[in-house]
Amino acid sequence: MKSFKLFFLAFLLLGLMSCHRKESLHIVDGLTMGTYYRVTYIGENNSQLKDEIDSVLNDICHTFSVFDTNSLISKINKGEVAIVNDDFQKIFALSKEAHQLTDGAFEPTIAPLVNLWGFGRTPAAQDATLYLDSILDFVGFDKVILKEDTIIPSDLRIILDFNAIAKGFAVDKVTEFLQAKGYDNCLVDIGGEVKASGSKNGEPWRVGIQEPTQDKSGALVADYTFNMSDVAIATSGNYRNYKEENGVRYSHIINPKNGCPEKSNLLSVSVLAKDCAIADALATGFMVLGMDRSVEILNQHPEYAAHFIYWDNNNYKTYSTKNFPKRAN
Ligand code: AMP
Ligand code: MG
Repeated sequence: MKSFKLFFLAFLLLGLMSCHRKESLHIVDGLTMGTYYRVTYIGENNSQLKDEIDSVLNDICHTFSVFDTNSLISKINKGEVAIVNDDFQKIFALSKEAHQLTDGAFEPTIAPLVNLWGFGRTPAAQDATLYLDSILDFVGFDKVILKEDTIIPSDLRIILDFNAIAKGFAVDKVTEFLQAKGYDNCLVDIGGEVKASGSKNGEPWRVGIQEPTQDKSGALVADYTFNMSDVAIATSGNYRNYKEENGVRYSHIINPKNGCPEKSNLLSVSVLAKDCAIADALATGFMVLGMDRSVEILNQHPEYAAHFIYWDNNNYKTYSTKNFPKRAN
């Protein structure tokens, strides 16, 4: 009887100890979409996970990469294919939503203008303004229809490009993949677009927004850190990718209304949303719209929150919507 009691006590102690044992944290690093990715997950180590995550990301690139001439989007843009897959249908629907929400500022047919101004793979055209009107003729997401799984462009010169939403979409897909594997507590970061799920051993995940500095080299400081759980954040900024002429900064983000690079005083917009794809698209759209109009839209949509960094009288200033997480540092 005594040995049974001892055995029972040891069993109880082991049980209590395992209740308090922290589950281990693992990191998977890699490269995708011209940037880094970092996946942090809690639980059993899984040595196959990196290959599986790479495979999820490769599938996305094979659908949306405009740099891969054999990708689905490249074939669509060349007029070789009209039938699209599930991911394409999803990104198309999310893009329509973001396009409408941002008064058309988020514009997935903007690529010919990105190229005209030299932000694509080719140098800027001489006298770019001369070509604006003719190119604007075939820019406009309303000129493309998706009927079930078939893309119908109204003009064969239209080029689709989901660069400004694809990273966020990939963050959501990798998160869904991890959750399907039972990893409910994870943090997925692709080039600064982040989704936090569950918790880090009972604590919320901590995320930082990098504050930009004046020079092109970056020298970014993670200055604004906050806690996040079951929510995503995406940032669009013109502090690293821009051209300067006569002291004016031209952003790589193009205003579809006039076809020109934005000259606004906004340096970056970070959008918080349940899903990262929509956060990514809205962040790009808000960069075009500017802070005032974006805040008007955000006031009508409390399901989104945002943090703006802007340049005012030679100083950085920030503005956060009321529902944006408070500083934890
Ligand atoms: P992001 O870093 O998510 O803001 O995406 C920037 C990329 O989106 C640029 O490099 C362009 O390829 C593309 N882009 C530029 N202007 C727009 C726009 N108005 N709407 C959608 N995509 C754009
Ligand atoms: Mg974006």
